[in-house]
Order: sequence, then structure tokens, then C-alpha cells
Amino acid sequence: MDEKYTFLEEYVPGEQPTDMQYIKLNTNESPFPPSPIVSQAITKREIDRMQLYPDPECRAISRRLADIYGFDRENIFIGNGSDDILNFAFMAFCQNGAAFPDITYGFYEVFAKLHGIKADIIPLKDDFSIDPADYEGIGKTVFIANPNAPTGLILPVEDIERIAVSNQDNVVVVDEAYIDFGGKSCVDLVRKYDNVLVVRTYSKSRSLAGGRLGFSIGSKEITADLMKIKFSTNPYSVNRLTLLAGEASLLDQNYYKENCAKIIMNRRFTKRELDKMGFETIPSLTNFLFTKHPAVSGEALYEKLKENGILVRHFNKDRIKDYIRVTIGTYEQMKAFVSELRYILEREEKSR
Ligand code: PMP
Repeated sequence: MDEKYTFLEEYVPGEQPTDMQYIKLNTNESPFPPSPIVSQAITKREIDRMQLYPDPECRAISRRLADIYGFDRENIFIGNGSDDILNFAFMAFCQNGAAFPDITYGFYEVFAKLHGIKADIIPLKDDFSIDPADYEGIGKTVFIANPNAPTGLILPVEDIERIAVSNQDNVVVVDEAYIDFGGKSCVDLVRKYDNVLVVRTYSKSRSLAGGRLGFSIGSKEITADLMKIKFSTNPYSVNRLTLLAGEASLLDQNYYKENCAKIIMNRRFTKRELDKMGFETIPSLTNFLFTKHPAVSGEALYEKLKENGILVRHFNKDRIKDYIRVTIGTYEQMKAFVSELRYILEREEKSR
């Protein structure tokens, strides 16, 4: 391998076991299947058309998304998951360097290193919130996961607006992977500022993590730049069936809204139960909770839960190694998670 990649540390995705025996609360997928309308769209006829390449401009789905959000098709970019779009944003817009928090989506640092981009990695405050002042007038491309992962905290739109206004010559990328679980979107900022790029995914609220589909909303200029990178790497990166699934899912908005409402309810239930057990949990506007217990380490919780068939995520990183990140699943899954935790804590207490 080329020497320039010697120091590249690749992104480590959450475990994806193939035996499916776990209650899987580790990679923030939806516990619900896609809408029935999605399976109706993947017909034999469409499967038989797979000898043909997909539309590289993804016009049909872009048009539909543009109508929903009140933009033109040329404001919408479609990618193979939002990771694809974030990667392109690092490639296209980071001539002056990038800036993002020390605790955020781990892929930002990987992309920066992959493309040899100098990154300002800015510590979150002690309470894990972002200080918008750190990014005002920074003169670099800013990447903010909003709500942030793995903390679950959100910055108000007004704070993102101040960051955008003070960095007019740089793109401000707002990664809204988790926006459908109670947060307020920055999409309206795109109407006011040419430098705001909102990135969304179908992997969480729209139950299509396995389909790999993401989209962004940004100025026509930014969108054309992303398209240029796409056409210079892999024009057919989003496959035919995924495009159909993504398009069909937009016909069933209520189904997804109801699923998000269920997840928000299950999140409330889980947070309350965690509080009762003495966990310290960050208030979350996402489909996960970031939580720690004063008596048991994050690693031990992760290991013990796994031994008992429940997968959560643990990050072996300085400021957050006491925590586990728990995806919110169905009510039954969260009840099982809570009762397993209770059992772990009881045993821990007895052994002391
Ligand atoms: N952004 C954030 C903040 C995420 O947590 C994730 C999921 N790992 C992604 C982007 C990527 O999602 P996908 O590529 O599945 O759209």
C-alpha cells in the first residue's frame, strides 16, 4: 500500500453479527422494517431490469425529495448512504482545512486523514455540548453532526446559523442523520445561505440501512460540485432497487412518523428506567441513549450485556470510555435490555 496511507486508521463499524441471535442495539438502525409500500415497489419486473445501469443523476427520487422539502431537483444530491456524501464533502470543500468536535461521528477524522486534510479537532465542553463560538469565523469547512453522535445533544438552529454567517467562504456541513427523532432541522438555512449543506440518511428513521441511501440539500453550486466528484469516482453508486425503495418510502410518510413517535416513547421509557438504576444519561434527541453508571465501567457493561445476548456500542476513547451507547429498539427489546441491566447491577452489588 502507498506510504501516504501508513498512518491511516480506518473507521471501525459496529459489529454486524450474522447469526442474528442478539438484541441488536449497537448501530442505531431502526427496529422496524421498511414500509410495505417499499416491498411492493421491488417487483419481479424491476428485478428483471437489473441488467440496466441505474440513473446516475437519480432524477426521480431527487425530484420527489425536492417537492417534499420545497427545493429544485438541482438542490438534491443522492449518495450511497450519507457516508458517501460526507466523504465527497471532505474531498470537495476542505481546501482550507476542516473543523469538527473531538467527540462526534468517528468517520470525520478518518475522511480527513484519508484525504490529507488538516483538521481542527475542537473539544466539546465538559457537559459534551458544542460551543458555537469555537466555530464562528474559523475559516474552515465545519462538520457538525446535529444532533451529535454519540452524545445525542443538539445545537439550536440559531447557533448553526451564526456559524454559517461567520464562515461565508466555507461550507458548513450539518449532518442530520438523527434529526427525525425530535430535533429541529436546519433545512431552512439552505434557503438563506449558499454555504449550508444538510446531509440526511435513510438508515435510521426510514429503516433502509441495508439499502445504503443518503441525500443532501444544498445550493445548486454545492450540489453540482458533489455531482462532479460522484461522476469522477462511481456514477452508478446507488443501485436501482435502492433508488426504488427510497422513492417508494416517500409515499408512506405517516408510517415513518409513527415509527419515530414509537422510538421517542421507548426512549423516554428507557431513560426513566436507567434513571431509577442510578445511570447518568445524556438527554437525547436521537434514536439512542448515551449513558454511564457510577459502579460499572462502560466496557464491563458492554461485555456483560453481550454475554447475555444484547449488543450495545462501547467506544474505547478517553473522554467517553465510561459510557455505552444504546440504540432505542422496540418496547419489548428495551424491556429486555432494562431487565438485563438490573440483573447485571444486582450481581455486581452482591460481588462487592
Ligand atoms: N452520520 C452520523 C452522525 C452517523 O451516526 C451515521 C451512521 N453511522 C452516518 C452519518 C452514516 O450513515 P449512513 O452512511 O448509513 O447513511
